[in-house]
Parts: sequence; structure tokens; C-alpha cells
Amino acid sequence: MIKQLVDDFFEISDGNYIREDVALDSELNGMQLFDKPIIGIASANDPIFETYSNKHDIMYQKFIGPKVWLKSAKSVVSIFLPYSEQVKTGNANNLKRPSLEWLHGRYEGQKFINELSEFIKMKLEHAGHKCVIPSIDDRLDVRIGTRTNKDVNTSLSLTNADYWSSWSERHVAFAAGLGTFGLSKNIITRKGSAGRLTSIIIDIDFKATERPYTDVYEYCTFCGQCISNCPVNAIHINKGKEHTVCSKYIDWVLKEYYPRYACGKCQVKVPCQDGIPETP
Ligand code: SF4
Ligand code: SF4
Repeated sequence: MIKQLVDDFFEISDGNYIREDVALDSELNGMQLFDKPIIGIASANDPIFETYSNKHDIMYQKFIGPKVWLKSAKSVVSIFLPYSEQVKTGNANNLKRPSLEWLHGRYEGQKFINELSEFIKMKLEHAGHKCVIPSIDDRLDVRIGTRTNKDVNTSLSLTNADYWSSWSERHVAFAAGLGTFGLSKNIITRKGSAGRLTSIIIDIDFKATERPYTDVYEYCTFCGQCISNCPVNAIHINKGKEHTVCSKYIDWVLKEYYPRYACGKCQVKVPCQDGIPETP
């Protein structure tokens, strides 16, 4: 059912292609942003969501479980949209600056994902179901260092604990059997890590997808290629990504390319770009 809705939207929407009036370069007119997504499902009653809410070292106890978002929740659907070949190749060409292709993927790509999410919600509600899409819900609370989606906080000494959200697409994708985390705090799926996520909490009791892994980092080989690619040395082999270092770089990109911002060098030219990397 969700797959059909996703397929329908890919069919009827032109948002997956860069329009001439927004293209950052005439050669990018008509560029495709995403390939067809993959979908995973978790039960809303899966105890993993309790773990996310209660274990301090996972989500800093900020995660709000599906049953709080939607009392009648039965399932949580996670959707991973892999970037198109052109978006990935563009960003792999120069590891010092975000490519125009990737900037489109992040900015226009997120607009497309939000429209897809709205479309799914509208169709499901029209069919009499209740659903919540946290990424486009007013209750979503996001803290990115000193910036939030609610207010401005001026706290100064930042650690990774200052970067949190009341819903995490990556954690939901892990729960829904789509993949495991990687060193760069990405999600590695069978379609790779270069892509974007959205998710839906719904009152339909879908069959949950089996999680073909147990360890949180099972698909990451710790090859260190994402460390080498990072232009600002934000990733470390023993502690992963330092959000503040990455975030400051993204702030610089935003000033240079406003209103677009992105980097993603840790998601391209890496063994996990297009699939689950093989253990050397
Ligand atoms: S590049 Fe290597 S170390 Fe980094 S996330 Fe991918 S598999 Fe893991
Ligand atoms: S960690 Fe941040 S700055 Fe480094 S490559 Fe990834 S997105 Fe870019």
C-alpha cells in the first residue's frame, strides 16, 4: 500500500527533476534527484522504541515513541530515497566543496520528500486512516547545537549531546530493517548510504520487516574512507562524527550558497555509497 503510494507520487510529481528556473547551472536542468526508494516497516509496539526513549547514550532521552505521536499507532514505515547517479557522481568530483548537484539533492530533494510525505498522509487520511509524519509535524523538536526549530539558544560549549531531535529518521530506519549505522553517523542500506529518509507512523497493522542484523554498526567496515573525505576532519575512527565541527562547516556552506546547504563528502566515494560494503 505505501509502496503503491510512493510509486504513484514518483509517477505524477515532477519534483524529482530540477526545473529550469531553479537550476544552478543550465546543464542541471532536468537532473533527476532520487532513484526509486526502499521501504521498511517496524511495529509501533517494538520495544526498540522504548530503548530509544530511555537509554541516555542512544538519543539523549529526547526520542518520542510512535505511540506518543499517535495513540492508535500500529506501524512505523521508513522510506530511504537513494540519490541518483548524477547527484552522487557530481559530489564525488571535488571533495573540497559541495557540488551543485548535491546542493540540489539536499534542498530541492528535501522539498520533494516533504511533498511525498504530504501526499502519503493525504491519501491515507482520505482512506480513513490516522497517521503522523514527524518530519513535517509541528511537534517535531530539533536541536542542532545552538540552533533549534523552536527558538534560539545561546549555550556555548557544545558536545554531540547538544544535537538531538524528538524523532530520528536514522534510528527509525534501523528499527524498520533498512540498515545499520556507519562511522559518519549515516545509515547504510542495501541501496547505500547516499540518500535521504522519511517515515510515517500509522494505525495500520503492517507485517514488520525482519532486521537482518543485530549490531548497531554491523554494515560499517570502519574502513575510514569517510574520515579521509571529510574536508574539516569532523570524523574520527574511535568516536565517529563530531557534530559541531561538521555543523560549522555546513554554516559556512549556507553563507556561500544561501539558501542551499549541504556537504555529504562522507557519503560519496566511499565503499558504502551504493550498498552494503564488503568486509575486506
Ligand atoms: S566509509 Fe567506511 S567507515 Fe565510513 S561509514 Fe562507510 S563503511 Fe563505515
Ligand atoms: S562529517 Fe560533515 S563536514 Fe564531514 S564530510 Fe560529512 S557532512 Fe561533510
